[in-house]
Amino acid sequence: MGLAPTAPVAQRLLVGLVGVGNMGAAMATRLLGAGYRLIVCDRNEEAVRRLQQAGAKAADTPAALAATPGLSAIISMLPSSEHVRAAYLGPHGILSLEPRQLHPHLLVDCSTIDPITAQEVAAAAADTSLHPHASDAHDGQQSPMMIDAPVSGGVPGAQAGSLTFMCGGPAAAVDAARPLLEVMGKRVIYCGSNGTGQTAKLCNNLVLAVSMAAVAEGLSLGKRLGLSPELLSEIFNTSSARCWSSDTYNPAPGVMEGVPSSRAYKGGFASRLMVKDLGLAIKAAQHCHAPLPMAEEARRLYDQVDPALDFSAIYKNVYKC
Ligand code: NAD
Repeated sequence: MGLAPTAPVAQRLLVGLVGVGNMGAAMATRLLGAGYRLIVCDRNEEAVRRLQQAGAKAADTPAALAATPGLSAIISMLPSSEHVRAAYLGPHGILSLEPRQLHPHLLVDCSTIDPITAQEVAAAAADTSLHPHASDAHDGQQSPMMIDAPVSGGVPGAQAGSLTFMCGGPAAAVDAARPLLEVMGKRVIYCGSNGTGQTAKLCNNLVLAVSMAAVAEGLSLGKRLGLSPELLSEIFNTSSARCWSSDTYNPAPGVMEGVPSSRAYKGGFASRLMVKDLGLAIKAAQHCHAPLPMAEEARRLYDQVDPALDFSAIYKNVYKC
């Protein structure tokens, strides 16, 4: 069954969202705006309260959320692999329920985590029929389908409903999730089996980390040699150095409006999350013996950036501009 966002259908559909931090809260707001009924769960009570005020219901644990009658799908948006394991496999996790108590037929993890964890959690979801309490009353109920669907576009993209979802899992599950994802994003890209969405995301962020560092390095050299970041960025953006980090998310304060560098690097994509993603890419590379010298150097550099600031603060914290 597809989860169509058209108002009459969406109004009947109840969706669960586990993790309503920076990204999850914006995604929740989009879903409420499209007419979905929503039940949320977060360890942070304040984050939950804000969404209750916007019309969502709340559950105390991921298991309690998953046991809500009529729930059609669960989306999770959690910080790291450990949080995803806890929310799905932990004592009060989604998959701790007996199969007959587990209502949603679709589980969509949008967190950025390592591909191996994504595969393991999806395998555990597929195996719910092997649950120790499944024997008596599984009643032919099918295990929920699970996909990984990490995003790019950040908080502004989540607010505007323009995220890109990179999806790994059974094609039928991605098709079923597509209408729901299209409320929150503009592009839903099918990557392959479980874990491949995460692989795509890690490769994207590796390139982003390195390109941002390169733009910051070039602008800082130019500045010290007497070229303003404004002039040099104009040259980059009409020459072969042009990239997203130079023409859309420039790290030098004053070059662009509406980006973190123009507001003291507040908001945006925290550098601690970039360090996490580089660590995931490096870990994944160890499995397939891929050389990753640029990612390793980038992680060393982003480790020196204030973890709470946007990752473009590499320009200020590392290049001292
Ligand atoms: P965040 O820290 O703001 O939000 C995560 C939320 O999860 C928090 O509110 C936390 O309390 C909650 N949480 C943790 N464990 C939980 C559990 N077991 N049960 C219920 N709630 C739990 O993080 P964020 O910025 O929203 O990022 C979420 C994910 O999205 C990360 O994996 C990140 O890498 C990815 N991402 C973020 C951005 C961005 O710009 N912020 C962009 C792309 C992808």
